Amino acid sequence: MFYFVWLELKRFIFRVKYFAEVDVTDNCNLRCKHCYHFQGKDDFQTQELSIHVWEKRFNELYKSGIRGILLVGGEPALRIDVLLLADKVFPYVYVIINGTIKIPEEFNHRLLVSLDGSRKTNDSIRGKDVFSKVMKNYSGDKRVVINMTIMRENYKELEDVVKIAKENGFNGVVCNICAGGTNISSPFVIRRKERETIIRELKRVKKLYPKDFLLSKAMIKWYEYPDHRDSCHWGDEVLHFDVSWNRRRCFGNNADCSNCGCGTGSFQSPLRMLRHPREMMKILVCS
Ligand code: SF4
Ligand code: SF4
Repeated sequence: MFYFVWLELKRFIFRVKYFAEVDVTDNCNLRCKHCYHFQGKDDFQTQELSIHVWEKRFNELYKSGIRGILLVGGEPALRIDVLLLADKVFPYVYVIINGTIKIPEEFNHRLLVSLDGSRKTNDSIRGKDVFSKVMKNYSGDKRVVINMTIMRENYKELEDVVKIAKENGFNGVVCNICAGGTNISSPFVIRRKERETIIRELKRVKKLYPKDFLLSKAMIKWYEYPDHRDSCHWGDEVLHFDVSWNRRRCFGNNADCSNCGCGTGSFQSPLRMLRHPREMMKILVCS
């Protein structure tokens, strides 16, 4: 974490960005109910890009100062070759995956594995047998932090997900509040007036499991802000690319900052992360 603080000071002084978020594929083996990736656009890059294209892109990012990268998609685990390449190029790599494909142990970086509730609820949202596959592939894997998307149908199961994470030897749980990503008219979006109930639940679970539910009190408070535009490091200080290498702001250009629910936004900035070192170490450092 202190390395990020050092990079942040450099960014502040020399204006050099050091973190990127990249879609490594537009393909996915699931179709989760709330997924925004496949909504509202039809120009997908369904043909996978060659590893040479990724080599060139990653080397250029490294040369420009990028030292940490978040790989998303689609489903990044469909491109294990690209993940292993990122492992060679960048000191810090993070991946958000759906957990149905096992990533080899030689990839020793933080895996944010999506789980949206107990078996029944998770599978009703993410698809048949997804819960079993996640457990089969990753139980006992210390690289894993569970990443839950909070919606109306599952927010009461946050405590269950924390218990499942503990029982299965995962490194803790983080969550996003469903804000629809690029699909802000999605019926799954939690509207501002509904947030109070959700935030009450986050605070309750934090009190019960302070070491396992990894959103700090400051991060939960961030979700309460009436608008997030001025307090978000993630949108403007991180480089964001889709798979065709178009730049965008945040996970998509239409992301609604006024109703943001992104966990990455709630980190606020590396300097602010110092206020909650225990949670940050568990999320960011994969030993
Ligand atoms: S696993 Fe991710 S990319 Fe795939 S459908 Fe689900 S939310 Fe969308
Ligand atoms: S949507 Fe959220 S994380 Fe993205 S730029 Fe806006 S406030 Fe930041």
